[in-house]
Amino acid sequence: MAERFEDILRKTDLDKEEIKVLLASEGDQMDRLLRRGLEVKLDHLDNSVHLRGLIEFGNVCEKNCLYCGLRSGNEKVDRYCLSDEEVLECARLARELRYGSVAIQSGERSDPEFVARITQLVREIKKIDGGSLGITLSLGEQSEETYRQWFEAGAHRYLLRIESSDEELYYKIHPRNDRHSFRRRLECLETLQRIGYQTGTGVMVGLPFQTLDHLAADLLFFKRMDVAMVGLGPYIPHPDTPLYRFRDLIPSDAARMDMTLRMIAVLRIMMPEINMVAATANQTIDPQGREKAIAAGANVIMPNLTQGDYRESYFIYPNKACVKDTPDQCQTCLDIRLAAIGHRILYDAWGDSLAFTKKKRLL
Ligand code: SAM
Ligand code: SF4
Repeated sequence: MAERFEDILRKTDLDKEEIKVLLASEGDQMDRLLRRGLEVKLDHLDNSVHLRGLIEFGNVCEKNCLYCGLRSGNEKVDRYCLSDEEVLECARLARELRYGSVAIQSGERSDPEFVARITQLVREIKKIDGGSLGITLSLGEQSEETYRQWFEAGAHRYLLRIESSDEELYYKIHPRNDRHSFRRRLECLETLQRIGYQTGTGVMVGLPFQTLDHLAADLLFFKRMDVAMVGLGPYIPHPDTPLYRFRDLIPSDAARMDMTLRMIAVLRIMMPEINMVAATANQTIDPQGREKAIAAGANVIMPNLTQGDYRESYFIYPNKACVKDTPDQCQTCLDIRLAAIGHRILYDAWGDSLAFTKKKRLL
């Protein structure tokens, strides 16, 4: 068995059964897997970590995902939306702190006012320092026309997690209706790729009803879709959401963290040149979570740029990490934490996905 594990670890073209063996590893074998994830990353990329300054644009959401604190059915949320000037202030701060990119994230809205505001904001951010900032959007499902409009305005990356690539599990964590259509989410990902975005997706790890089979299928889905970026993070139960009542069905914090790390390492082996985000949710359930994710193969961190009170209203899940840190505290803390694990932040760079850049050159 130990021999078989080592053989599998040396492969890159893993099948579902092999992925499951790696995902089930524990103790020394798990350590070997995580080291392999790091090794592959250092071979194909390097020890640099890219930053995306996160701007939490607003917490108004038209959807009702069963796991998320921002869901429209949650009446306890104090809803906000940043002003244009507040968004631009965050972007200017990102430039000042020498982050190469910003990421604008928000609850899902598709009203014309929202779409037009984002277009205008992307254009304005592009004017900062002659287009020095890369722009990632994570604004949910939109029409092809909207995605095109934002792309033409200057956004070049888009994050839309599939949440689970298994349709049945998807509908256990979303209402089964047109507004939460699995098909539509898939189509959106395809549209984003067709338009030319560096497209990222991902899943939550440790959801109720999720099995090893689901997780292995998720990794194969990312590979099949040939995405440029992936964001994986542990699911964190939120008390004001319907999924909370299944919290006893999920693995412990430590087990969800470990599974996330194994997912990151296996995916790095399968897709050595993609960008992979060490999600804030990792740090929420483990103080060292983000560094552990980087040391297992992730290479992107999204420090929060949103100021003060708003941060506490972007309450996707409880105990969100760094909610009270200011952006400059965040940066010093990151520099030190990453140096301690032999990594360094790559400042002043967009930090595009190598997988995407190479593919584009071939087209
Ligand atoms: N509304 C956009 C969307 O859904 O794509 C972007 C914002 S949404 C808050 C960003 C991500 O937060 C989701 O893709 C989901 O994976 C994650 N998320 C939401 N609730 C969570 C929870 N309870 N635990 C962990 N991650 C969660
Ligand atoms: Fe809205 Fe996104 Fe949360 Fe779903 S995950 S409720 S779309 S913010």
